[in-house]
Amino acid sequence: KFITFEGIDGAGKTTHLSWFRERLEEKVAAAGRAVVTTREPGGTPLGETLRELLLHERMDLETEALLMFAARREHLAQVIEPALARGDWVLSDRFTDATFAYQGGGRGLPRDKLEALERWVQGGFQPDLTVLFDLPTETASERRGAARSPDKFESETEAFFARTRAEYLRRAEEAPHRFAIVDASSSIERIRAVLGDVIDAL
Ligand code: C5P
Ligand code: MG
Repeated sequence: KFITFEGIDGAGKTTHLSWFRERLEEKVAAAGRAVVTTREPGGTPLGETLRELLLHERMDLETEALLMFAARREHLAQVIEPALARGDWVLSDRFTDATFAYQGGGRGLPRDKLEALERWVQGGFQPDLTVLFDLPTETASERRGAARSPDKFESETEAFFARTRAEYLRRAEEAPHRFAIVDASSSIERIRAVLGDVIDAL
């Protein structure tokens, strides 16, 4: 199965991912399968090179979306599809929903363009499960403020993250069967309990 983790900066997704990964590994090891953990942007040598450019260079919005999907094509071909074909599981820190949320919702690229690229690169392929770490943007910015700014551009505003969050929620509403929305503002213990239930249900 293919599982993705999503959420705005400061939602705690990467921290929860390492806990989830260990539990998932225990579960699938019992069936003789491995978990391949990966991320976007990134996931392959080409993808990691593109990640550096995407995170640190200013570029045209459409160029940014095209590079995201180019990296994704490579990620699918080199990592995700081969792992799933072997019967292994794949756990990815971000995938296409992030492109809709950040490049679409946040930065304003028209959704129909992203949908065209999604179809072109993925056909109908989608994650089996997407865990969305959702929380108010004010809470996320307090957390980011405590630790660090967003990795991309410090100029990203509260309004930017509000649009990003709204697009995540819209994607979840559009495909409720594959989304598990986790209240990322609750305590670590509570979130772990929810994630444990998610794993049990897989
Ligand atoms: O998920 P991660 O924290 O590694 O993301 C790194 C940065 O990339 C984040 O600051 C996020 O805002 C940005 N990003 C983006 N567009 C995406 C995915 C991530 O701007 N599609
Ligand atoms: Mg992060």
